[in-house]
Amino acid sequence: MNSVVQAMRARTRNNQMPADAQREAAPPAAALSTPIASLPGIGPKRAAALADRGISTLEDAIFHLPSRYQDWRNPVPLEKLAAGMTATVEGVLADITERPMRGAPSRRLASGWLTGGNRRIRVVWFNLPAYMRGRMPSGERVLAHGRIVSDSDGALELVQPEIHVLSTGEPPPIRPSYNLPAGISQRLFSSVATKALNDLRPHLTGSIPSAVEHDFPSIAEALTELHAPGPASDVGALNAGTSRAHLALAFDELFAFELALGLERERAAGRPGIAIAGEGPRTRQWRQSLPFAMTGAQARAIDEIAADLARPTQMNRMLLGDVGSGKTLVAFHAALSAAEAGFQVAMMAPTELLAEQHHASFNRLCARLGFPAALLTGKVTGAYRASTLRNLASGALPIVFGTHAIIQEGVRFHRLGLAIIDEQHRFGVFDRARLKAQGPEANLLMMTATPIPRSLAMSLFANLDLSFLDEMPPGRTPIETILFAESDLARVDSIVERELAMGHRAYYVLPRIDAADEERKSVAATAERLRRGPLRSYRIETVHGRMSPADKERVMAGFRDGAVQTLVSTTVVEVGIDVPEATVMVVIAAERYGLAQLHQLRGRVGRGAAPSKCCLVTSAESDDSARERMRIMTTCRTGMEVAEADLRLRGPGDLLGARQTGALPLRFVHFVRDHRLIERARHLAEQWLARDPTLRSRDSLGARRAIRRMLALGFSMGDVG
Ligand code: ADP
Ligand code: MG
Repeated sequence: MNSVVQAMRARTRNNQMPADAQREAAPPAAALSTPIASLPGIGPKRAAALADRGISTLEDAIFHLPSRYQDWRNPVPLEKLAAGMTATVEGVLADITERPMRGAPSRRLASGWLTGGNRRIRVVWFNLPAYMRGRMPSGERVLAHGRIVSDSDGALELVQPEIHVLSTGEPPPIRPSYNLPAGISQRLFSSVATKALNDLRPHLTGSIPSAVEHDFPSIAEALTELHAPGPASDVGALNAGTSRAHLALAFDELFAFELALGLERERAAGRPGIAIAGEGPRTRQWRQSLPFAMTGAQARAIDEIAADLARPTQMNRMLLGDVGSGKTLVAFHAALSAAEAGFQVAMMAPTELLAEQHHASFNRLCARLGFPAALLTGKVTGAYRASTLRNLASGALPIVFGTHAIIQEGVRFHRLGLAIIDEQHRFGVFDRARLKAQGPEANLLMMTATPIPRSLAMSLFANLDLSFLDEMPPGRTPIETILFAESDLARVDSIVERELAMGHRAYYVLPRIDAADEERKSVAATAERLRRGPLRSYRIETVHGRMSPADKERVMAGFRDGAVQTLVSTTVVEVGIDVPEATVMVVIAAERYGLAQLHQLRGRVGRGAAPSKCCLVTSAESDDSARERMRIMTTCRTGMEVAEADLRLRGPGDLLGARQTGALPLRFVHFVRDHRLIERARHLAEQWLARDPTLRSRDSLGARRAIRRMLALGFSMGDVG
């Protein structure tokens, strides 16, 4: 937990009035924290339904933005209507009939006719909202807003429209439409939100200090525009979420976010840490005797890390590099430097396979330096485990590779100098905190293949120092990505067979372990099919999460050494596994994975000199958008290209890992739309921190409040790093 912010929290607690004083005080006027249940029209039932959606206070209501906007300004003449339009139509509504729907008696089917000029159109409600039952304004001149469809005879119908009776006055020009639970009408919520907004306007100050110049509307203006757009508003921009008002909310939030990251960075910079001065002679010799030269990017990262380690403050650095860019060697260099300086090193990976692989590569590449390294995972037990724990506690063991097992109860270090987290986006905040707790002054190196544009990374991880591996080791051949339909499996198998015949190895990745309902998508059935059919002369083994670690290990070792030629598995092979002889990756039901995950899977091949293939097999039931995503995989080669495509398609959720984005306290930011806003917010936040480094000035009040709200949403600074 961030101590600056913690201190801030403590201050707020202390600033609260003692309970007695609170009792004596006059009943409070409406405040942002006033329960929404205190409003007329919101009884306990409605309050509970809203609370289920996270709307409990007036502030929640104010920040629950409309999801759509209806344009009521320009009625479309009846003769200009066409199927597919959403339109506002003016006319006299008459001949209304209502009856229960066949098969669903709780629903009411209603229909009538809307007449304008010398034309009329049928109007239908399949499920008449309760508040309209028996109250349809028959014979009245109305505006009706809804979708135009053509019925089975080709006649146009206006379906499920909302109605405004013109004798009651002008309709709002642009009507917001909210995502609401059943039982809360648009009208009710709109009036609640607008009233709360009007009552609380003076409290809606936002996070940006008044002294900071920017050209966005104020938060109060933005919210007013969003809940009650004026007659001149741009409905297109409102519906696209690109209005000035939307951007203003996002920018305000980003400003607070970047302030929080900046504070964290400042604080971390001052924290005393273990200094590891320079590369020792043994580490230097190791670097020079590797079977290949480091890439330029690796050499740069190694220098940046060494310089950082040499400082007497803690390193908090993230190493970002595409799959296969060679992050492990950079980590080994740091580990050796620390060990040579007499400190202990822990390297934590998200899976046992990966931890084992790191341990094995370390032994292969670094053993002769004479720094013993142990493996600590869930399956490591007995005497080996006991002596590992003992030697970590005594300091006799300099290096440990492992999984979550490293941060379990009972593991103690003597003098942890460097903690490394591989595939850091797969870990939660608490995992990181617990690893840090193993050595409060230890340096932290995190690694991720999250392919994220550099400028975005610098803003999202502004609390950290960053190193980029933007160069691939030489000699890699590009991977050809090919799409197949499920019905084409035989062709896929024959591609695999050809590779195996050349002495290469293959992966099949499937979403299920065994599944009677989805045989074609299961590991067990696929292994059976291959063994009986096309690959019968090769050894095929399965790997999945339900196997004992020892069995997994045995199979993986066989695959690595060539005794097993085809590995049929779930996504356990996703992260980090490195077998250069593997040249085909087959992903079945590929549409079930995100682009970043597919890129990770694809990265399991193309690690040797032979050309590699990635066969993405889409299921019969996948839709067009899924196929479009798969097509992107065939054109995007680098992680960065995939990342940019993914960002365009659906934001960074998949890039950063579900856990992490779930934890990002940003409600109004769309990473795609706001790409450039993020950098601007960072600049302004940096400038403001230079003026008010502790945010103690009056003008920083809104910013402090916004940061506290982020913390209330479960955010701790580690979440982004
Ligand atoms: P990642 O960044 O995905 O973790 P790895 O560290 O697993 O990548 O490296 C991928 C492969 O590239 C490994 O087999 C590793 O030995 C090899 N490698 C790393 N650096 C170089 C280099 N400079 N030249 C050639 N091969 C390298
Ligand atoms: Mg790796």
